[in-house]
Amino acid sequence: MTEFTMTIAGEPAASASTFGVVDPATGRTFAQAPDCTPGQLDAAMTAASRAQPAWGRDERGRRDALREAADLLEAHTDRLAELITAEQGKPLDQARDEVTASAVWLRHYAGMELPHEIVQDDDQGRAEIVACPLGVVAAIAPWNFPVVLAVWKIAPALLAGNTMVLKPSPYTPLATLYMGELLRNCLPAGVLNVISGQDPLGASMAAHPIPRKISFTGSTATGRRVAATAAGDLKRVTLELGGNDPAIVLPDAEPEEFAAPIVQSAFVNSGQVCFAVKRLYVPARRHDAWVQALATEAAALRVGAGHDDGVQMGPLSNRAQFERVSALVDDARSRGALVATGGAALPREGYFYAPTVLASAADGMAVVDEEQFGPVLPVVPYGEPSDAAAAANASEYGLTASVWSPDTDRADDLARSLECGQVSINAHGTGVRPDLPFGGFKASGIGMENGRWGLEEFTRLQVFTRPPKE
Ligand code: NAD
Repeated sequence: MTEFTMTIAGEPAASASTFGVVDPATGRTFAQAPDCTPGQLDAAMTAASRAQPAWGRDERGRRDALREAADLLEAHTDRLAELITAEQGKPLDQARDEVTASAVWLRHYAGMELPHEIVQDDDQGRAEIVACPLGVVAAIAPWNFPVVLAVWKIAPALLAGNTMVLKPSPYTPLATLYMGELLRNCLPAGVLNVISGQDPLGASMAAHPIPRKISFTGSTATGRRVAATAAGDLKRVTLELGGNDPAIVLPDAEPEEFAAPIVQSAFVNSGQVCFAVKRLYVPARRHDAWVQALATEAAALRVGAGHDDGVQMGPLSNRAQFERVSALVDDARSRGALVATGGAALPREGYFYAPTVLASAADGMAVVDEEQFGPVLPVVPYGEPSDAAAAANASEYGLTASVWSPDTDRADDLARSLECGQVSINAHGTGVRPDLPFGGFKASGIGMENGRWGLEEFTRLQVFTRPPKE
């Protein structure tokens, strides 16, 4: 069995105890990851703190290192993708796309300007604003896109001159540990420390006195705990949390045209995408036509183990998620939703659940009101588009949304009324790019990732003024 090590102060770090990592396609443990000790957490934080001043002074070195990091990830795409598929479940080609996207993000930031402004430079004096690094960043990642969501933190934080201690989810530590191993080759010791452990390790990172910022992606419940802990010593936080993203099809939208992209956006990564379509509002009089088209598309998805050829959808990533999704579907059915396709686990080992379309769903059902994070699309009929917008907004979440119509101006009008961080027309989540801000309103989070806005969150502004030169 391959031994996976943490990266602390540029060195491999094993641990006396380990925890098992499960392949969701079989439900069996296939590898062990180190369980970081409190002493190792301190060592990682101290290493990051020691490395930061020199790293913060070397802007050229930082840009070069980020480009080299992109090259290294690309050169090891096969191995990284295999690990992602083995621990997370997604099809291998999508795991490869995750690695490719990570390299794109690293290169994008390697070339991005750091915020700097001379506000005044005249016979009255000079005033300059400089964006300084914060220091050490504690980064905590989820299991649905373990590598790229960590890179969304690594690239801007390191470009800004911070150093980092990164912890992947205990469900998916391996690809991230391997990435840490690879990046030892291009980053000075201590700049990126990667540690693994169970949830309490995340809590200890948030409470640790060294980091000045916590960059967290995960559930809203955990995000609230992180924010409360960070308040203790006023650490900054960026929280990328859950979503319950609505898609609204307008009365003039045709199922033949839009059912396929909606199904793609709802079921990719088995629906375990923070910005997946999670509830679909359709005009009541066209409900049946929509359900039929969606069910046909969903039923045609090829479901299987991620490393098998031609598979479009893998298992759910872990048992807890599998059980939650099963319970949500059973609950919706008991409250009157109709299963148009799917509605049950697949009769095989692992955490496979059939792509499911629920007809006649309604606000008030848990599968509509909460984030299901699984391959289940509830279809909710509406009377007027304004009713659909009101229902879309009557959620504690506000991450992304989409509106679908051949009349894009009309769709855009409705889009402007939606309370969330991003709305796409006739597509879903197409604004998730390295040059655009990504983040949620309300319980979907605080702050932004990506683009210059994501970079700014890893800096603090410092002002220098001086009198005019004689
Ligand atoms: P989670 O909150 O259970 O775990 C996320 C991370 O937090 C893990 O690394 C975990 O070990 C750690 N953690 C757990 N308890 C902690 C604590 N008390 N203090 C600090 N860290 C702790 O979330 P998850 O189940 O891994 O991820 C799924 C959730 O993430 C979904 O809600 C999804 O919508 C959300 N998500 C959001 C985005 C986004 O960008 N908005 C992206 C991906 C996933």
